[in-house]
Amino acid sequence: MDSFERDNIPGTDIPHGGGGAPLLSREELEILFERSKKELMMLSEITNAIMQSLELDQVLYTILTALTSHEGLCFNRAIFFLVNEKNKTLEGRMAIGPHSAEEADKIWRHIENNRLTMQDLIDSYDKFKKDPESKLNQLVKGITIPLREDMGILALTILEGMPFEINSEEARSLVNDDIKKILNMDLFVTVPLKTRNKTLGAILVDNLYTGTPITKNSVRILNMFADHAALAIENSKLYERTVYLSKTDWLTGLWNTRHFNDVLDEKLLEASGSGTPLGLLLIDVDNFKRYNDSLGHQEGDRAIKRIADILKRFSRKSDFVCRYGGEEFCVIMSKTGKNEAQIIAERLRSEIESSFKHDDSVPEKLTLTISSGLAIYPSDSGEKKELIRKADTALYTAKRLGKNRTCLFSDAMAKDMMF
Ligand code: GH3
Ligand code: MG
Ligand code: MG
Repeated sequence: MDSFERDNIPGTDIPHGGGGAPLLSREELEILFERSKKELMMLSEITNAIMQSLELDQVLYTILTALTSHEGLCFNRAIFFLVNEKNKTLEGRMAIGPHSAEEADKIWRHIENNRLTMQDLIDSYDKFKKDPESKLNQLVKGITIPLREDMGILALTILEGMPFEINSEEARSLVNDDIKKILNMDLFVTVPLKTRNKTLGAILVDNLYTGTPITKNSVRILNMFADHAALAIENSKLYERTVYLSKTDWLTGLWNTRHFNDVLDEKLLEASGSGTPLGLLLIDVDNFKRYNDSLGHQEGDRAIKRIADILKRFSRKSDFVCRYGGEEFCVIMSKTGKNEAQIIAERLRSEIESSFKHDDSVPEKLTLTISSGLAIYPSDSGEKKELIRKADTALYTAKRLGKNRTCLFSDAMAKDMMF
């Protein structure tokens, strides 16, 4: 067979040979065949690269690199947006590409001079993570688009679950999105990232700096690629959710003891590296058995959750709050010395006391309070186990002195404990 129906090969950019006959010659077919072979190899290479990691940000980085690298799809910029289901918004998450024509020139010259392959670029993820964020990335991360039909093309990409190609003057005149100005968009393509029954987000690509037209063929490959990308993203989101669940406590949503151990190791290492103090606060609910026995286990559970919420709300963002046991909690306070740690511990204690005191549904004699023990790294101990033991000793002292108080570890307590 010498020719083939042109319409059977979607997205071909080979011009018609004249006369309007929708047929391809043998030469054209050979060109198409070679191109398809190359595309398939590229897709398989990209898919393999995406599957190398389960960490969401690394997966996103690999996808964006594949879209922009010269061995990949060659777009100048690729930008990732993820759906926030809770807020019903689309949020900018990551971008790869230059912020200006000068930066574009510098980046591409660097890639060419160093003969960087797509795999080299993918392997530089760690560097990308450590580097100060690029201007484009910063810009993109600040974008939040409500998922409503009147919010423009990106919102429509998600709501309609279909790609949009703004690849002509006419189409361009129809775009009046706010983000068109923010990102200096001109001609661009958006594709949704769809899995079985969900749209996870969208990718936006353009050739802002080279002005290379976005062909039907590259849009076709982009769409094929988006299906693989969506699957990889869904997998890594599931993985991250599983990891998160394994580190948290089901009742309170606080970090659990296993994670506490890892984090304390990490924070102590940081503290020793930076020469800053760290406060370790152990907390135990007072007379909780009585509360449980009088009001029932379910009410007890609710109280534990309420205490956890107060600890979370009234600690600082940088504090690490964890459920240490049944009715025990722990707060790791990085870069915090004795005085500041005592102020925070006292704030937590008094907030919990007043929350239960002012609750008419809790009988007065069952008002819940907490006792806390505080030890400071490195002044009380430079070693993890000993630091925990000293915070525990201080907690024991707080109980012994009548509960509903915070005690800071002192050597005198240690002597008491020995007898
Ligand atoms: P103290 O002031 O000395 O700490 O007295 P306490 O009654 O709080 O201490 P104790 O260790 O005797 O009792 C703790 C109780 O906490 C025992 C247990 O039934 C209850 N508890 C532990 N974990 C949970 C939980 O997840 N849910 C509920 N409802 N109760 C729990
Ligand atoms: Mg206890
Ligand atoms: Mg207790």
